[in-house]
Amino acid sequence: MITVSKALHTILSTIALVGIEKVTILSALGRVLAEDIYARRNIPPTDNSAMDGYALIAEDTMGANTEHPLFFDIIEDVPAGNIPRKIVGFAEATRIMTGAPIPEGVDAVVPVEDTELDGDRVKIFAEVSIGQNIRSMGEDVKDGELVLTRGTIIRPAETGMLAALGRSFVTVYQKPLVAILATGDELTDIDGDLSPEKIISSNSYSGAAQVMECGGIPLQIGIAKDTKEDLTEKFKAAMRADIIVSSAGVSVGDYDFVKDVMKEIGVTIDFHQVAQRPGKPFTFGTAGRKLFFGLPGNPVSSMITFEQYVRPAILKMTGHKRIFRKTIKAILKENIQKKKGLRYFLRVRVRYEDERFTVVTTGEQGSGILKSMVQANGIMVLPEDSTSIKKGVEVVVQVIDNSFELTEEPGY
Ligand code: AMP
Ligand code: MG
Repeated sequence: MITVSKALHTILSTIALVGIEKVTILSALGRVLAEDIYARRNIPPTDNSAMDGYALIAEDTMGANTEHPLFFDIIEDVPAGNIPRKIVGFAEATRIMTGAPIPEGVDAVVPVEDTELDGDRVKIFAEVSIGQNIRSMGEDVKDGELVLTRGTIIRPAETGMLAALGRSFVTVYQKPLVAILATGDELTDIDGDLSPEKIISSNSYSGAAQVMECGGIPLQIGIAKDTKEDLTEKFKAAMRADIIVSSAGVSVGDYDFVKDVMKEIGVTIDFHQVAQRPGKPFTFGTAGRKLFFGLPGNPVSSMITFEQYVRPAILKMTGHKRIFRKTIKAILKENIQKKKGLRYFLRVRVRYEDERFTVVTTGEQGSGILKSMVQANGIMVLPEDSTSIKKGVEVVVQVIDNSFELTEEPGY
């Protein structure tokens, strides 16, 4: 039996990055950029107007005010998207729209609010200084600039930037294919045989959802019977995936053949059994670059071991640097009895009250109580060396709920 840290370290040190692929910028959302992005143009591409108004020479507006407007000849009209043709001279102005390129000779724009049209001329009621209301070429991004670096997670802002840079495709890390295999004679699928001795394979679905949540593609292999033959067949079918995640059959029961079958198909078992609760029978192996995670069968154990081991592995291989959930310190609101020597992962609800986080368990913590996961927004992690933990003590909680601390009302 090895420790949680050793298990994690063993898994993470075997991981190599997946391949890369070119996808449209919209398909890249939430994925990790696998190339550096240099600008191939200036943004904005030209000096352009920040206002609807009149482009002119700032110096010519000296002395203009509401009582004594100055008159300028309008020599041209430049809507957005058009190019000015005429050079602006003394006491001349070009009517210009926001975003339109600045005409030659001009160094400021007077906003339309400070003007009044007077036939072919415009009255200017306010002075402007050099550069006022002009956005300069490349003020956002300069041609040749390194704008996004490899390893960046694509959010909507990055999507917009890629579009602004003229990129419709971008190179990202591939999504790994993750086979999900349930094992057990008692298992049935949701729409299968629902006789009372049957248990619906919820792990097939929680597991697939966990894969999707961290950016992998689940491949449902279905349910293997507790026979070496069926397990071998299903494991072989799973071998086309990058990662094979099985559940159950890794304990010490008479029908727990998963480890044997893994070995028979060429998997090197790096370890089995970790000093933790739940999830003690957790097994990990490799065959070439393929990773095999043998999760325990109990629904909570299966989800917790996925969270602790499979999720960081998937995130790491897809180029993520921040592969662990956020942890917070919270004040425990109940007494907890614990066995020394095991790291505990308890399902909890954290909340913010009286300017600190507090935490309570989600009731019955049996590894078959899936409801304890449903009600949880966090996993409280208790260290190996602790025994009983007293109410009022500060504990570490992993936040597993992506909507943690979101609010129903605006917070401003
Ligand atoms: P085992 O590891 O085979 O001893 O299974 C432990 C417990 O987990 C048993 O009560 C199983 O019925 C349950 N279990 C195993 N696989 C699944 C699954 N895919 N979905 C839901 N429960 C399961
Ligand atoms: Mg079983």
